Amino acid sequence: MIATSQEPAVAWLGQQKAPMLALLERMVNTDSGSYDKAGVDAVGGILKAFFQAEGLEVETVPNDTYGEAIRATLPHVSANDQRPIVLMGHRDTVFGQGEAGRRPFRIEGDKAYGPGVADMKAGLVMNAFVAAAFRRFGGNPGPVVCLVTADEEIASPSSRPIIEEQARRARIVFNSEPGRASGNIVSGRKGGVFMVMEVTGKAAHSGANHQDGVSAIGELALKIGKLHALTDYARGITVNVGLVSGGQTVNTVAPWAEGQIDLRYVKAADRQWALDAIRGIVESCELKGTTGALTIRGEFLPIEESETGRRLFALYSGAAKDVGFSVGAEFTGGCADSGFTAAQGCPTICGVGPAGAKAHSPDEVMYVDTLVPRAQAMALSIMRLGTVE
Ligand SMILES: [Zn+2]
Repeated sequence: MIATSQEPAVAWLGQQKAPMLALLERMVNTDSGSYDKAGVDAVGGILKAFFQAEGLEVETVPNDTYGEAIRATLPHVSANDQRPIVLMGHRDTVFGQGEAGRRPFRIEGDKAYGPGVADMKAGLVMNAFVAAAFRRFGGNPGPVVCLVTADEEIASPSSRPIIEEQARRARIVFNSEPGRASGNIVSGRKGGVFMVMEVTGKAAHSGANHQDGVSAIGELALKIGKLHALTDYARGITVNVGLVSGGQTVNTVAPWAEGQIDLRYVKAADRQWALDAIRGIVESCELKGTTGALTIRGEFLPIEESETGRRLFALYSGAAKDVGFSVGAEFTGGCADSGFTAAQGCPTICGVGPAGAKAHSPDEVMYVDTLVPRAQAMALSIMRLGTVE
């Protein structure tokens, strides 16, 4: 049952489907690939204007390379607990410039399409409207912060310290990545480390003096087999060399080669073990005259399943039930910024955004009918926070 004091915000959100979709359309129709600073900032500009019009305090953290980070705050001067309730989301996408022009936002029946529509512009719209509902009707038990980041799809090189700093002083983080196609939220995520191994050998003419060369490609191939053998499904560890390149010409013994490595793991304690094993394989070479070097290019931390996570899920699923839908929780191998907040010890719930599917593909879809109920469930969960912590 929804308490009388909690009804106005929930009821108002119930009437916001059209304005939510209008805001989403503008955001989807603005390209914002992670490396497209101007585009990411343009989408940020749309959100900043919304926050300002709704009376939130907007601050930004500028960045020369990536889009700026945006923090929109709804203060709560009389709350005993001043730790912010953080509604988090990223506005970059995996799509390059021109994608929105080729396939702009469109709705067919109960499905919305367009680059980043589910991952995760719909989640940002939802966060913004939930904050607006609290601004208009109150009911939030403490300050609310919408944190809008700029580079999640490339492992958050600029946003990670901002996210971690925010998480250290937050009461709870709701990360509005898309709900699963089933509607399920995400209660656990794998950690991921993205690396490159570079192997150098010695060039030689492959016809005239083959014996003088040492093949970096040959050494790389040996390493790939050993790296893949680290995969242990029972332990939740996978190692994938997903990209390789190397060599100079077909008639040259290859002087260089490189491979990109994706490590995923479930338990935080396995991270160092796996990294040490990978480094050992990359740095020790079988072919005399080759050398190998490993560089970490990006990283996400895991969300381990925990008692806090189960309590948060109970809070959220109870709120969902009261606004009219049922929801489950699942574990995913996909990584997200929520791993950084969980690793700071901050209670974190992820995948609470509108439901979607086929992210990172041209078939990406957001289920329109989940937009409003997910906003209502989030708002109600926040209003009930004090009762379950
Ligand atoms: Zn995402």
